[in-house]
Amino acid sequence: MADDNCIFCKIAAGTIPSKKVYEDDDFYAFHDINPAAPVHVLVIPRKHIETLSACTPGDAGLVGKMMVLVPRIAAQLGVDYSGGDTGYRTVINVGPGGGQEVYHLHAHILAGPRPWSRMG
Ligand code: AMP
Ligand code: ZN
Repeated sequence: MADDNCIFCKIAAGTIPSKKVYEDDDFYAFHDINPAAPVHVLVIPRKHIETLSACTPGDAGLVGKMMVLVPRIAAQLGVDYSGGDTGYRTVINVGPGGGQEVYHLHAHILAGPRPWSRMG
């Protein structure tokens, strides 16, 4: 399940340190080490899936759970949207053309006052 060479697998396993935001049996969320925005958190499945394009129909439940988890984590961070001017951006970079640098599926949660350094 875990890839020995994957930095995000190691973060989820706790063998590389991170600033944890949330965890459960299937997911782990932590602050991005090089934040592009005042709030920048990454949500990852514990399962090593290289990229969104590698997801199969069998992963639909896991990916769906990840998307439903994003607003819950946003609420924990104080940036969820339920009307008004609040909210955040959710980004999944896919492949070199999408700017993906770490090949373990992850959703970015970005929020806070602009300008952002990237992904704005
Ligand atoms: P992406 O370009 O979508 O693959 O995003 C990878 C993100 O992972 C970047 O925003 C990096 O700053 C972040 N990142 C890389 N290594 C770490 C780490 N050890 N802890 C936290 N975030 C990391
Ligand atoms: Zn991994």
